[in-house]
Amino acid sequence: MNEPDVRQKTPLILIVDDEKTLRLLLRRAMEQEGYQVIEVCDGEECLAACQQQLPDIVLLDAMMPVIDGFACCAQLQHAFGEQCPPVLMITGLNNQESVDRAFEAGATDYITKPIHWAVLRQRVRRLLQTRWAMAELRRKIEHERLLMAQLEAANRELQRLASMDGLTQIANRRVFDECLQQEWKRLSREQAPLSLILCDIDFFKTYNDTYGHQAGDECLKQVAHIIQQTVKRPADLVARYGGEEFVVILPNTEIKGAVHIAQEIRSELRAKAIAHAGSRVSNFVTLSCGVANMIPHPGTSPHQLIAEADRALYQAKVEGRDRVVSALVGTELKTAVS
Ligand SMILES: [Mg+2]
Repeated sequence: MNEPDVRQKTPLILIVDDEKTLRLLLRRAMEQEGYQVIEVCDGEECLAACQQQLPDIVLLDAMMPVIDGFACCAQLQHAFGEQCPPVLMITGLNNQESVDRAFEAGATDYITKPIHWAVLRQRVRRLLQTRWAMAELRRKIEHERLLMAQLEAANRELQRLASMDGLTQIANRRVFDECLQQEWKRLSREQAPLSLILCDIDFFKTYNDTYGHQAGDECLKQVAHIIQQTVKRPADLVARYGGEEFVVILPNTEIKGAVHIAQEIRSELRAKAIAHAGSRVSNFVTLSCGVANMIPHPGTSPHQLIAEADRALYQAKVEGRDRVVSALVGTELKTAVS
């Protein structure tokens, strides 16, 4: 913590009294205690002095001309609020009414004239200690608050990292599994369609063999980025399925729309023209995509949807790669070469 420890500072006492002799006596008593002292002779000067530098305690005479101690105390409270230093009111009126007035005006404590010096010293010491304790408490609370904020930020970062594929910075397999389960349940209630695209980079092993694994990693990052950029709706999810396979969840999407998105991904990838000398179907990196679609039924699992997308992807590979094959569950596979 950078906040200075208040105890390392010499306490500053502001004496406010219209009587010169009393000011001098008060000054001497406070200086004997090792405190620093400023003295002023009326309420107006008191407010001005506080504006310049806030003391640790104000010793405030109750009876003064122009602005009396009660009014001055109230004005200090108004001007400084929570920052207002403790006010020890010095009153010659030892009666209940003036004591009440002092506390009503916001005084922290009071002593009466003629001043009992030992009592004054003890009161001032106690007020300073309370002030230190309060400052210390505030410092600790602030420190805890900071620690808590740091902990929360660290937790958020941890969660982000735990849900992300380290290499490609898109969602990982765990997030895909969770999201698919959720969408499956939601859409089975809605009885609305759910589409899945499985994409696989063609001849990726050859790519690694040709350009090395570092280049292979770069290629995976680029392809992930292209898919992420192409899939735009907030409810859609792009994830790394494993190795060189990516998967896209498209809720509330008919098969036609899903095929369209798969084709868009392929055309965006083609536009990037990532050289792939080892590919047997193109001079550039290409994708095979399997698309599947279902209206989820309550009480079933999404495994069939994944299996259908997988089957379609396999078919795309068999038919010569660099294409989209779609499977409407329970029907024939359909190839869409662009
Ligand atoms: Mg006076």
